[in-house]
Amino acid sequence: MGRQSARTVGRANLFRSFSQNLEWVKEHASIKFEPDFEYGYICPLCFRLFLEKDLDTSLSNFLTFEDIPPKSLGGRPRALTCNACNSRSGHELDAHLLKTLLDTDAQNFLPNSSANVTYQLSGNSINGTFKVSSDGVVTLKMEKTRSHPIQAEKFLNELIPRTRISKPYPPLFRPLQDAAPNPAFSMTVSKIFDTRRANIALLRIGYLLAFATLGNSFLLNSGLFTVREQLMHPDKEVIKIFWIAHKFPKHMEGIHIITLPKDMRAFLVIFSLATRSSTSQFAIVLPGPTAPGIKVYDFIESELCTGDGTTFLNFTTEKLPDKNYLKDKASAFLAQAYWQEFTNDGYTPRFAP
Ligand SMILES: [Zn+2]
Repeated sequence: MGRQSARTVGRANLFRSFSQNLEWVKEHASIKFEPDFEYGYICPLCFRLFLEKDLDTSLSNFLTFEDIPPKSLGGRPRALTCNACNSRSGHELDAHLLKTLLDTDAQNFLPNSSANVTYQLSGNSINGTFKVSSDGVVTLKMEKTRSHPIQAEKFLNELIPRTRISKPYPPLFRPLQDAAPNPAFSMTVSKIFDTRRANIALLRIGYLLAFATLGNSFLLNSGLFTVREQLMHPDKEVIKIFWIAHKFPKHMEGIHIITLPKDMRAFLVIFSLATRSSTSQFAIVLPGPTAPGIKVYDFIESELCTGDGTTFLNFTTEKLPDKNYLKDKASAFLAQAYWQEFTNDGYTPRFAP
């Protein structure tokens, strides 16, 4: 089987799983589509409806593989999105996320990392690159041709002083203020990425992970309109803070329901992203189908993210068990059932908060 056809079969299989799952969701008495359809696929980002014929790659907006997380960060195809949504996020979001993570690796001097940097010495700067090899050897490269010519010249002259043939004797006594200034050498990573867009890329990964795992019933949630609005308009501040800055134990990675305090009830998607040099963990909050809905973001902003955003409040979560929510008919609404159970007034946590 050729590569092209393997991809075609892969997309058709994903289409079949999700469209069958959507058929089960449609059987629910309270759900009606007008006009109705059979075996369709809803793009989780723009909410447009697609049919099996839209797998045809000669169409302008065909259904394409969605790597969750992006392939460059260790992801694999786990759902489909329409080509418009998919290619838009590649350059508007994912590129910024990748660059942010790679530059963070370089700033931490991690093996296999590199970055474009600006070096500074006593007020003069020069552009260049910074590279750490697999065995930890750091190479600083200064590139005169990519820099301000006069500043670069001064920088290099100070860094590597020209040998003088006749050196005047230094005076025996020298007033303190005449002392040679301590040359201040520093390095800043050239910031050609947008941190906000990198953050929105993480929101997108969290949202798509939940959709790919829990299936179409996850989308039956009005709070997610706000999330999609944010994803479609990354430069607009629709939601200010949608993450929890905390390092969770590895075994907690997956989808949780935050159960207590009540004001914080929401889905919490915890996942890791891997570069060549490091693995970073992220925890993304998504509104649940009932209260507090999107008000959870106001709560997080006011209670959790004071100061530098790392203040941590105690809360209780329940991890959704590993089930085939997508492919088992009996599990098609299971995430909703867990939500009901864990946010019920009679709920008591299995572990103390
Ligand atoms: Zn779309």
